[in-house]
Amino acid sequence: TTPVRNICCVGAGYVGGPTAAVIAYNNPHIQVTVVDKDETRIRRWNSRHPPIYEPGLQDILRTARDGTHQRPYTSTWHGSTRESLSNWLERKPNLFFTTDIAQCISEADIVMIAVNTPTKTRGSGAGSATDMTAFEAVTAVVAQHARPGAIIVEKSTVPCRTAQFVQDTLLLHRPNVEFEVLSNPEFLAAGTAVKDLLQPDRILIGSSPTPAGRRAAAALASVYASFSPSPRIITINLFSSELAKLVANSMLAQRISSINSIAAVCEATGADVDEVATAIGADPRIGSKFLKAGIGFGGSCFKKDILSLVYLANSLRLPQVADYWRAVIAMNEFARDRFSSRVIRCLNNTLVGKKLTVLGYAFKKNTNDTRESPAVDIIRTLVEEGPREVAIFDPCCIPAHVTEEIGRLLGTDVLKENGGPVTVYTDVYEACDNSDAILITTEFDEFKNSGELAGAEEPSPSEQSETEYDNEEDLEDIREIMGDHDIRPFLPYVDKPSDRFKPMPRCNDSCPDCERHSIRR
Ligand code: NAD
Repeated sequence: TTPVRNICCVGAGYVGGPTAAVIAYNNPHIQVTVVDKDETRIRRWNSRHPPIYEPGLQDILRTARDGTHQRPYTSTWHGSTRESLSNWLERKPNLFFTTDIAQCISEADIVMIAVNTPTKTRGSGAGSATDMTAFEAVTAVVAQHARPGAIIVEKSTVPCRTAQFVQDTLLLHRPNVEFEVLSNPEFLAAGTAVKDLLQPDRILIGSSPTPAGRRAAAALASVYASFSPSPRIITINLFSSELAKLVANSMLAQRISSINSIAAVCEATGADVDEVATAIGADPRIGSKFLKAGIGFGGSCFKKDILSLVYLANSLRLPQVADYWRAVIAMNEFARDRFSSRVIRCLNNTLVGKKLTVLGYAFKKNTNDTRESPAVDIIRTLVEEGPREVAIFDPCCIPAHVTEEIGRLLGTDVLKENGGPVTVYTDVYEACDNSDAILITTEFDEFKNSGELAGAEEPSPSEQSETEYDNEEDLEDIREIMGDHDIRPFLPYVDKPSDRFKPMPRCNDSCPDCERHSIRR
């Protein structure tokens, strides 16, 4: 295969940004450019304040985007203070962010399409079919500008047989030019994106079964081979790969719904759902992961991918299959509503005049991704009961963003500034002060380890070791990959969960991108 020298990733979102950063980081010889039509997003990716928070991302980004030709600093990262001038790794920047979409596509050996593919909200298939507007628009631009022989990769999660549509679009615009289309779905999870990208369970590459298709798959595999052992790279057929991504998310969501259904039975019978989960998880055929009962799954992917599978099943006239998967979503909504109802019941069936605190607004820990967060529906239900205050605190989200989003989703009337009950706090203790009930809606370690939340000087040994273990694991990944290269995370984001309760460090006041300047301290 011809060596890959230039990759263009279209879509600078939760997938495109971190994926491109990790690929660039591990392949200094490849120029990786991320393009997006959203100028603000690109500006932020080029600033000290990237638009998304993921543990470890700052270090990867800084190295690949800015190079490492600056003077090293004295680090305490490894537990001891040391100068590392001699170990300083020199490398040139090879990761770029720009809005110059056509130009970058025209220069790329591989074009990755990583734009959003949400659920359709209007027209035929509204509420379940995938909205392919963004994907289709990008495909047309790629078809017009890609250089002959370029490999076109579907990174977005797309309906089965989309590769055929991409191939047809390419043929329509450039009838005499050969292009190979690959499916390479992304399995990263928000909150652990960098870790998942650095140490993937598997990398799935779907290609056509022709020699040219296999050559294209090998070229893409060579990009991943620099950081992932080849047995983890699975090459299959195009449509299987597209479908596998939908099925993976649907099966993960199904496990959560399954254990949540059992939680309802446990609460009614006196059995303990965690004990049941431990007992069944010991069977390797079931496995212990993803069996934590709670308020249900959120995030931009699980629900939309199940809905896409439901739509596919219905369009194939398989209503039984569609009903089966739709029930996973119904059970998820049941789990979330059951939680809100229980809170109201515990407070004597009235929230009037009461203060409730919602800890965690993101859909899961260690991310600022709030899409489809269960917290939103819970807040909506609480507000309807007429409380005095609904106080919200999230350690990863910018309060101004949370306020803006709640105003958009629930109406601006609910906000305190307009006389409503919803207040977003920057201080967890103020949020909890005088509260009638504290609801933990995201499993951030700070909330789980109650010693930290209660302001205890010393967490208990078990809590301490859990916190340290989580941090250590994150750091270990970065250390392994960075070797002796000292890392200084950018301000103002901090990676250690325990640091998030400390006042946010201020960055240079002249920085135009720092949204934290508006935060009350
Ligand atoms: P996102 O909304 O965060 O980012 C998509 C980006 O695409 C946006 O910045 C948007 O401006 C850009 N875009 C849209 N139309 C464009 C156009 N015509 N030209 C240029 N840029 C355009 O989405 P995401 O969360 O990164 O998800 C992207 C895809 O990856 C989806 O298909 C999703 O299902 C899939 N996926 C997401 C995750 C996740 O955890 N978020 C995980 C695996 C797979």
